[in-house]
Amino acid sequence: MRFPAEPFRIKVVEPLKITSEQERERLIKEAGYNIFMIPAESIYIDLLTDSGTSAMSDNQWAGLMLGDESYAGSKNYFHFEETVRQIFGFKNIIPTHQGRVAENLLFSNILKPGDVVPNNIHFDTTRANVEYHQAQALDCVIDEGLDPQNPHPFKGNMDLNKLEKVIQQYGKEHVPVIMLTITNNSGGGQPVSMQNIKEVSALAKKYQIPFFFDACRFAENCYFIKEWEEGYQNKSILEIAQEMFSYADGCTMSAKKDGLVNIGGFLALNDDDWAQHITNMLILIEGFKTYGGLAGRDLESIARGLKEVLDENYLRFRINQTRYLGEMLDEQGIPIVKPVGGHAVYIDAKQFLPHIPPEQFPGHALVVELYKRYGIRAVEIGSLMMAKNDPQTGKMIPPKLELVRLAIPRRVYTNMHMQYVAEAIINIYQDREKLKGFEIEYEPEFLRHFTARLKPVQ
Ligand SMILES: *Cc1c(COP(=O)(O)O)cnc(C)c1O
Repeated sequence: MRFPAEPFRIKVVEPLKITSEQERERLIKEAGYNIFMIPAESIYIDLLTDSGTSAMSDNQWAGLMLGDESYAGSKNYFHFEETVRQIFGFKNIIPTHQGRVAENLLFSNILKPGDVVPNNIHFDTTRANVEYHQAQALDCVIDEGLDPQNPHPFKGNMDLNKLEKVIQQYGKEHVPVIMLTITNNSGGGQPVSMQNIKEVSALAKKYQIPFFFDACRFAENCYFIKEWEEGYQNKSILEIAQEMFSYADGCTMSAKKDGLVNIGGFLALNDDDWAQHITNMLILIEGFKTYGGLAGRDLESIARGLKEVLDENYLRFRINQTRYLGEMLDEQGIPIVKPVGGHAVYIDAKQFLPHIPPEQFPGHALVVELYKRYGIRAVEIGSLMMAKNDPQTGKMIPPKLELVRLAIPRRVYTNMHMQYVAEAIINIYQDREKLKGFEIEYEPEFLRHFTARLKPVQ
């Protein structure tokens, strides 16, 4: 089977509200044509993000009833700790309520102003947490990873030459950690190969720099290694994960992705001194070390989710569902980023809508049309989200790519939903010259895409 069917059946259903095109036209207009300002209830298929949107299993829901809400020493913490240690192998495991707190704790402990942190590509919150400490976040992904059409199977790989140059240029004393994001979210959910992980690890050892993963989608990364890398076809996902983490000194993790839960995260690391210092800070900002801002029941559902995410049948379905959507679009000539990554399909809006210039937000035009005509929520990752303004001329400097991301929540939508999404996009593609660009009516000072108001260009 090229695309396996769902390896689960449905026990509880959440009815979706069906709205008319007229209603949606009114809603999006009232929302200032901003997809973040629409009540989620009025969305039919929500592909805004795969973060915190997973469906939990019956086993995870059952685990919630076994929550031990003791302030200290909850049994759920010990189950969580044992599970994380078995998969990730690190010595100290510190729960947090989200991935970004794990980042904040790590960087607060190790960064000084003027330091640099290399990564394949920093995720937004990672970059923000580095820059908050007056350090620089540098991206060292291989060049293939920046080319939307390059078919390289491991486009998340770190470029070792770029990495070594950074270390030599700034001096290893100014590089307190090397990070590697698996899969590379900001680069399209592209995986990193085991070979590359080993090489990054060796380079980190050579310069005695600690090496940490941003491990949010570690299981999806392991599945790609098993599928595409020589020598891993007969290994289990657990064995691949254990090998992968054995090359590092720690990781930050958002359980809202491959933890298969709606909230949670952790920081795991081998260094005892760092762990002690960070645990003291944890008490200040999140809570005692056996709950870290989470309820006991949340820790239980993370422990159970981390076991389920290693199931190869689940991962085969997961990765292939994303690929299925990508291939339906590709077969009809819709320009997408290739190869399709683990958690999302990205449409190249510049090619989709060549008559709309970046200043009129082609990706946004497609996002609005998808909602208006079909009730689908996607997100623009292009000029609206990322453009900078030239401080001299005030003119907009657009980013290299104008993308629309369709992120797929885990275990939430069926393949029939994916067919609906594909048909919707194909229909829009067929009369794409009718679409108009947008202009901004109101924008805040920063992170404008969340609250800006727009209107169609006349
Ligand atoms: C989501 C994410 C984070 C941040 O995690 P939160 O739980 O949202 O705070 C960090 N890195 C990557 C790669 C992510 O995808």
